[in-house]
Amino acid sequence: MAPISSCAIYPGSFNPVHYGHLDIARRALRMFDRVVVAIYVHPGKPDLFTAEERLDLVREALKDEPRVRVASYNILTVDYAREIGAHAIVRGLRVFSDFELEFRMALANRRLAPEIEIVNFIAAEEHLHISSSTIREIASLGGDVASMTPPHVVDALKRRFAELRAGGSQSSFMVSLED
Ligand code: ADP
Repeated sequence: MAPISSCAIYPGSFNPVHYGHLDIARRALRMFDRVVVAIYVHPGKPDLFTAEERLDLVREALKDEPRVRVASYNILTVDYAREIGAHAIVRGLRVFSDFELEFRMALANRRLAPEIEIVNFIAAEEHLHISSSTIREIASLGGDVASMTPPHVVDALKRRFAELRAGGSQSSFMVSLED
């Protein structure tokens, strides 16, 4: 029997990518032959990092994983999953409050695309507290996020907040700190 190559999509905003995301992407590689980290780009939503910047940050973080591809999309996740031939959607679960949203999203996605499985990975204990919004908030106030995200992301955050401060726009940006 010819081997079937399995592919999962790992969607999220990755704004910015952090160690919690990277752990889930690597664990998904144990189950799937290929993992596509898919960066959802909200049309019209101002973000700390552009789609291109987020792509570069995730690519750099996962450059040693030849079975990972990084892409961006702005359509329904199930439509994008079908477009690239993914068999599963991978998501991470951190806290109980994630569960309700993930459960609802999984049911909706199943209704839209019953052939695509939703696979939830329980976050590693050491990453439970990490979220992109926490990182943005700490970094915006000059705090140290080196334990939460790789060095090149720490540098990118420092540069971005320095630019925003120089342009006097940090406070208006705070509005979009939520995920
Ligand atoms: P965030 O909540 O950090 O902004 P995203 O919206 O980019 O992250 O989430 C993409 C996926 O990664 C989601 O399934 C989310 O539950 C998962 N995820 C986010 N943070 C972590 C973490 N610390 N550990 C494991 N999974 C996570």
